[in-house]
Amino acid sequence: MGNRTTTVREVIGRSPRGGSAATWSGLAVCALALTGLVANALPVPTDPGPVRAGAAAEPDPYCSPGSDAADTAARAAHTRVADPGADAAEGVEVTPEQAAEYEDQLREALVPLRGHELAPPYTVPVVVHVISAEDGRGDVSDRRIQEQVDVLDQAYRGEYALGSEGTDTGFRFELADVTRNADDAWFRDFNRYRDTIRSRLRQGGPETLNIYTTELESGLLGYSTFPQDYPDKPSQDGVVIAHDTLPGGERDRFNEGHTGTHEVGHWLGLFHTFQNGCRSPGDYVDDTPYEREAAAGCPKGRDSCPDLPGEDPVTNFMNYSDDACMTHFTQGQTRRMIEHWVAFRGGDARV
Ligand SMILES: [Zn+2]
Repeated sequence: MGNRTTTVREVIGRSPRGGSAATWSGLAVCALALTGLVANALPVPTDPGPVRAGAAAEPDPYCSPGSDAADTAARAAHTRVADPGADAAEGVEVTPEQAAEYEDQLREALVPLRGHELAPPYTVPVVVHVISAEDGRGDVSDRRIQEQVDVLDQAYRGEYALGSEGTDTGFRFELADVTRNADDAWFRDFNRYRDTIRSRLRQGGPETLNIYTTELESGLLGYSTFPQDYPDKPSQDGVVIAHDTLPGGERDRFNEGHTGTHEVGHWLGLFHTFQNGCRSPGDYVDDTPYEREAAAGCPKGRDSCPDLPGEDPVTNFMNYSDDACMTHFTQGQTRRMIEHWVAFRGGDARV
């Protein structure tokens, strides 16, 4: 069963374009650093530590629930997860063992690429598959789809970052195609039919981002496959997001498009910032502080691993915070996404 965050959250005000921390020179430095990283691959962690739940199963102590129990129930449970897999009816979190296996696969895939020069930016073609009801529910407009792709592009350019916290990841997103599929069964129960849907609709190779918009069960915002999954299941590769999470959608607090931003982070190889909780190796990224559990709302200043450096990365795109709270990817996450791109998606043609 999936772990779900059950909280009442408050939206904080924020300018969605509070300033760009991204510069081309920063990106170039990153590319050089990455070349070094590929040439000197990090040691493969052999002991990810004991199993612990990576997500918040209990209410967040920093977001005290409202006094109205009915309101609390109505607002319960929003998750953005990795692919639930063929047998799961809903999203599940990545276990420490699975994360370690993905890491092993990444390091192995990078070995033959040692010494190659990496050269972002990488332009990702995006194909959006709209799964809607026959009465039109979920039939998101072309304009809203373009806005979602624009949010992706801006987020990965670092344009939501505040001050110097974020980075230009070097990834660019361009809408290549939209398919529309009105089918009540598919719309009502996407997860039941998802393997068939994705096999029929998916376009392109490993470099093509296929996004499926549909209705998801209550509380589930979206999920994604990882790059390492592609060789075994190329037809299943992609991101699924609830249609009402697109920019301007009806989903309260999650309608600025950052469910898409978050899920594409998984699609490019990132774990949640709270992966492995306070235990090494965390999310396998050096510059995202450890975090015991998912954030909910926007609990800035929270420090759930007080014995370890840094406050929780509450405003990171790979957390569970409200859309308005999420602002950036770090340099370390950027490096990790580029590694995954080169190893599994872009291929030798891009290096
Ligand atoms: Zn997630």
